[in-house]
Amino acid sequence: MSAFHREKVLSVRHWTDTLFSFTSTRSSAFRFQNGQFAMIGLEVDGRPLLRAYSMASANHEEELEFFSIKVADGPLTSRLQEIKQGDTILVGRKATGTLIADNLIPGKRLLLLSTGTGLAPFASLIKDPDVYERFETVVLVHGCRQVSELAYGEQLVATLGGDEFFGPLMREKFIYYPTVTREPFRNRGRITDLIASQQLFGDIGLAPLDIETDRIMLCGSPGMLEDLRVIFEARGFLEGNHSDPGHFVIEKAFVER
Ligand SMILES: Cc1cc2nc3c(=O)[nH]c(=O)nc-3n(C[C@H](O)[C@H](O)[C@H](O)COP(=O)(O)OP(=O)(O)OC[C@H]3O[C@@H](n4cnc5c(N)ncnc54)[C@H](O)[C@@H]3O)c2cc1C
Repeated sequence: MSAFHREKVLSVRHWTDTLFSFTSTRSSAFRFQNGQFAMIGLEVDGRPLLRAYSMASANHEEELEFFSIKVADGPLTSRLQEIKQGDTILVGRKATGTLIADNLIPGKRLLLLSTGTGLAPFASLIKDPDVYERFETVVLVHGCRQVSELAYGEQLVATLGGDEFFGPLMREKFIYYPTVTREPFRNRGRITDLIASQQLFGDIGLAPLDIETDRIMLCGSPGMLEDLRVIFEARGFLEGNHSDPGHFVIEKAFVER
């Protein structure tokens, strides 16, 4: 049995010069938990060229969706950005990752903090009805440099808000907080600063950070993750994993090579 499923690309959408998303068929044998990632890629010169990618689709959906960076000289994404409907992608059989609800101690408010393509696992999680069962409030924060980089997340939230099932749930429990660092926008600033200063909580009109109620998932650049880890650990928050659930869990959105 091959280590990969061969899936057909169903649609591709380019959001900016550096961001695109695509959907593909999904083998019925490919199972994952919302928030997880798998190795995906292309066959190049007869060999698989693979990278870790979070599923941006939820596990109840028929198709797979991915939200991707375009790295100009990146071995995979310099090619992946050229894919078209009908092309074949490889999807590893095994999904894994720490951004799953079971790795968190029960709480009341879930903070999903992301930068760039770190939004992808949260795109999956905010489509998970179980997340809204577990938490009274779900706050999705997405930080980017430019306003245009928010487009995928904005469209996702708007679509879910209009959904027959998720719309009412999201009006009751969901808060979306996009923020931009390099251009004028209604929310400005780095997520680390917004958390450290507690400005985020003032802006959304909710209680400040509280270890009793808040559970946190982080996905972004290695630098952002390290800064936030320091902030949360200084307040007594403990990192969770598969064997030991905690107050927060972390996944890198990419690794520096
Ligand atoms: C757990 C995990 C999940 C991931 N999920 C996603 C995902 O859902 N979507 C996605 O686009 N990428 C994701 N990545 C990154 C992905 O694995 C690749 O690095 C990316 O597709 C670029 O591949 P490449 O071969 O073109 O370049 P690489 O050689 O892999 O990367 C070259 C350089 O580009 C930069 N870079 C790579 N990926 C990113 C990124 N996503 N955002 C900003 N800078 C980046 C880094 O500086 C890196 O050193 C994930 C990585 C990990 C570890």
